[in-house]
Formats: sequence, C-alpha cells, structure tokens
Amino acid sequence: MDVWHIDNLVKEIERKGIASDREARSMARWIKEDILPFGNYKHVIGNESKGEALERILDRLVFGEPVQYIAGHAWFFGYKFKVNQSVLIPRPETEELVDWILKDFKTGDKSHLRILDIGTGSGCIALTLKKELGDQCTVVGIDISKKALEVATENALGLDVQMEWIEIDFLTSDGEISEPFNIIVSNPPYVGKNYISQQMVDLLTYEPEEALYPNHDDIDIFYRKISEWGGKLLVPNGVCYLEINEFRRESIETLFRANIWKNIEIKEDLQGLPRMLKATLS
Ligand code: SAM
Ligand code: GLN
Repeated sequence: MDVWHIDNLVKEIERKGIASDREARSMARWIKEDILPFGNYKHVIGNESKGEALERILDRLVFGEPVQYIAGHAWFFGYKFKVNQSVLIPRPETEELVDWILKDFKTGDKSHLRILDIGTGSGCIALTLKKELGDQCTVVGIDISKKALEVATENALGLDVQMEWIEIDFLTSDGEISEPFNIIVSNPPYVGKNYISQQMVDLLTYEPEEALYPNHDDIDIFYRKISEWGGKLLVPNGVCYLEINEFRRESIETLFRANIWKNIEIKEDLQGLPRMLKATLS
C-alpha cells in the first residue's frame, strides 16, 4: 500500500482524529505536495521508511502544529513565503487587503509611490505589493521583532526584490519614520482573548503572541496610533489600508472619523465579516 497516496493520507488523518472531510483532504494535499518533497522529509533518512517519515509529520499535526510551519512555507497571492514560529502564517483575508490596494494603484505612475507596511511579519504584504506594483515604487516594512525581519529578509531574497526593513516599536515611535508615504498598510495585532473561544486560542498557540494579541489594555491601540500619527506618516491625500478585527468595526471606524481622515470605507472579507478599512488623509 502506498502510504503517501492522497486517499490513504486522508484516512490516516481522520483515523488519528486530526481533522475530517475537507480539512483532512486539504492537510493530505499539504503533506503530499508541500511537506514530503521538502526539507527534512525530502530524503528518507537512514533506515527510516516512508511510513515512519509520515508518522513524524502526523505526530506534529496531532499536537495542532499548522501545516505551514511543518512545511516551512506558506502561499500568499501565489508567492511562496518562508515561515517559522517567529512569524504569523499569512491569511487569505490579508490577500483581500492587498487586492484592494492593487485595484486602486495598479494603473498610473508608480515611480514616486512610497508604501509603509506596519508589522510586516513574513513580509507577505510588503513583498507582494513590490512584486505586483513593480520595482519603481519604494516599500518599507517595519516590525518590532528582529526574528520576523530575518524571515522577511530571506523572503525578499527568495523573491528577488530590494526592500528596506526597519526594526522599531511602532507604538513608541511617535510616528517618526523617515519621509512621508503615499500608502500605509497594516495588519496589526488585533485579537482579543475575550472575543474568541478557547478553541480558537488553542488553534493559535503555535503563532507568535506579539503578532496576534496587542500587548496593551487598549485592544485598538494600533488603530488609535495610526489614526493619530497618520498625518505625520502620509503625504496629503495619502491612503491608509488596514485589516481590522471583525468585532471592533465601530470603535475603529470612530477613531478614523476624527477630523484628519476622509472617505472612510469598510470592506467585508469573503466570509462576509467587516475586515478592512480604507481612509484617506484630508
Ligand atoms: N503583515 C504580516 C501578515 O499580514 O501576515 C504579519 C502581521 S501580524 C498580525 C502583526 C505583526 O506586527 C507581527 O509581525 C508583530 O511582530 C508586529 N508587531 C507587534 N507589535 C509591534 C510594534 N509595537 N511595532 C511594530 N511591529 C509590531
Ligand atoms: N486574522 C488573524 C486570526 O484571526 C489575526 C491577525 C491579526 O491579529 N492581525 O487569527
């Protein structure tokens, strides 16, 4: 029996209670296409059989480790990004945020376009924008985490693009980050443990705390700071695109309704949840 056949993988995943139905099939595909051909699993080491290599993978899945960390990469906008436990695994809803920016800026002169990505993590937003908008624009990615920026640097090399990364705590930076930008984009930490189930918290345990949970009493702290400092960071009529917490839409929108912003728009993600905010500096 070929233990790596997709149907057999699905059965094993279900038998071990890791997942069922579509989720089991999706995991089986990851194992077959993205995990087994790469990294530690590429060569069956020593006396290890295919079955034993698979056991090692399934053991990790039983403990809830995401397939992307086992594979060492994730897919975002068709690009392959290295990921490890120092960075958030890029999410499909963040692709929708990038798509919004691309729809607004794909055409026209991009030679002077400057983009700031706050909390860049793996660099998935920053690097995708640079790839899609072309080399003429400047993209700067900032993050508090040195380890995340190491991953982002590797991803820039892998995608063959020139980037500027800055290690900085945005919340204490007072918005002083070099010359102004035309676009701010951010998917900041916005998860509140009080807003999600324990099951959800458990699902997120492999990902960095500082990427998910604002280390602050004020869950909207990143949105508050961006709404206050946008005037320093953006050129007049500069635009801000943010991924938002679906439970905090009203409070975040209220912050941006303050006088320096205009044309505030909220967009739902594919699940119909309010997930993105766009605001233009007056
Ligand atoms: N942009 C990536 C994405 O969309 O997949 C990662 C987003 S993750 C939700 C938030 C990122 O913000 C993490 O990489 C985290 O290290 C970073 N971060 C957290 N606090 C920060 C701070 N005070 N200043 C700068 N970056 C911060
Ligand atoms: N959307 C992510 C999640 O729900 C959270 C990302 C974030 O905090 N910015 O797991």
